[in-house]
Amino acid sequence: ANISLDPRVEAFLAGGPKKLFIGGEFVASASGKTFETIDPATGKAITSVYEADAEDVELAVQAAEKTLAGAWAKVTPSERGRLLWKLADLMEEHAEALAQLETIDNGKPVTHARVADIPLAIDHFRYYAGWSTKLAGEVINNSAGPNMLTYTRREPVGVVGQIIPWNFPLLLAAWKLGAALATGNAVILKSAEQTPLTAIYLAELIQQAGFPEGVVNIITGFGPTAGAAITNHPRIRKVAFTGSTEVGKLIMQQAAGNLKRVSLELGGKSPNIIFPDADFSKAIPGALMGIFFNQGQVCCAGSRLFVHKKVYDNVLADMTSFASKMKQGNGLDESTEIGPLVSSEQFARVSGYLQKGHEEGATSLTGGAPLDGPGYFVPPTIFADVNERMTIAREEIFGPVVAAMPFDDEAQIADVIRRANDTEYGLAAGVWTTDLRKAHKVAHALEAGTVWVNCYNALDAAVPFGGYKQSGYGREMGSYALDLYTQVKAVWVNL
Ligand code: NAD
Repeated sequence: ANISLDPRVEAFLAGGPKKLFIGGEFVASASGKTFETIDPATGKAITSVYEADAEDVELAVQAAEKTLAGAWAKVTPSERGRLLWKLADLMEEHAEALAQLETIDNGKPVTHARVADIPLAIDHFRYYAGWSTKLAGEVINNSAGPNMLTYTRREPVGVVGQIIPWNFPLLLAAWKLGAALATGNAVILKSAEQTPLTAIYLAELIQQAGFPEGVVNIITGFGPTAGAAITNHPRIRKVAFTGSTEVGKLIMQQAAGNLKRVSLELGGKSPNIIFPDADFSKAIPGALMGIFFNQGQVCCAGSRLFVHKKVYDNVLADMTSFASKMKQGNGLDESTEIGPLVSSEQFARVSGYLQKGHEEGATSLTGGAPLDGPGYFVPPTIFADVNERMTIAREEIFGPVVAAMPFDDEAQIADVIRRANDTEYGLAAGVWTTDLRKAHKVAHALEAGTVWVNCYNALDAAVPFGGYKQSGYGREMGSYALDLYTQVKAVWVNL
């Protein structure tokens, strides 16, 4: 029983292709080209959107430069905060429409979008609204003596490019925009080609909130064209990217030509470690949510599960019993617990990993094969009999597939830490134990930007998030993100 669509979603989807938002106006792309966006639950087109390329990026850069030298420069910090807060209020008014649109475009259960994606995105803007008025420099006493006044200013970087993936389309747009706008930059944000819709809806709210024209430009298009035009553009001073490690490397190469600043939030293969003294009433649902939330399409998914051998059989039996009963279906059905994967490409990729897992000798305790269409459904899959050299234990699958492995050191934790760290990724990790000393020791030894102890996937606008090793660099959220979007100027005054 699918929910009935919010009339605002129907109104948004009616009419011709969705337009780009450049210089405060909704415009067709310069080429006039469009592409379709697909509902992954049905495989059918939802609507089409304009396809941006280098010409549109140039227009957006011009609009951003104009406001940086004009209207946006005159907006006071407190007014910037008010605009961000106003945007959050508008998002709250439109929360149900945003949640439904996210579900249609991405596939995620609407019940999850309502309690996670949308409220977290709203909170994010409110959190950074507060930072608008709290940027400060310092006065530095230095060896030049009492007649020298030396102080620092934190200034915006200027025109910023932001490129996001499809797994949390609105939330990641918020992660990118909040800190950049609070610090006074002007932005060109490109949504992922698979999920362009909530970013365009957000653009309508940005227009209503009253941001000056050109402060936020939102374009829809593909990576190698619109995305590369952003990273290659000589007057875009910074690019913030969230996506795969593979494309992260391309972004760095493209940005090297003009030395723009780069921050990268990339992939992961996060270890989730269950010790025998864990509270299993928390650890089992935590491990399940850690891998199956958002159909496993989470950069920090706990996709390598290390379970102590004393409790391995019981933990896997409990997880299997739960996972095999999860209700999978269209995300618009309120009883759905797990939806489809985002696209036919992702469906093919994850299906390939399932096959590879079987070929390399792993056993699927539940799931293990993709479902017949329509829609791109892969059931929750738990692989046992996994060894660490197998592809499914090394590569990011980005689907609802966990590789479970036993470990057996009780007093010494060095072995499981070594195994957990044996990856090129370092985004996140989980630890389940009731021994606080062990929890902290393991947390300190893990090579990851986030460690969750007796919880998983906890996120908050105030807490920094980002990767170690090839999971990227730079930290979004909290006060840390302010560094990504400001540059420090030292001023020397000989009195
Ligand atoms: P992707 O790297 O294929 O695409 C991400 C974005 O980059 C899209 O907007 C795409 O159009 C653009 N892009 C592609 N090629 C480009 C190019 N040559 N130049 C400029 N832009 C280009 O990733 P995806 O498949 O959309 O997303 C999944 C990946 O994102 C996973 O690896 C996941 O771990 C990662 N991710 C990381 C985080 C994090 O915070 N670390 C969060 C979510 C997702």
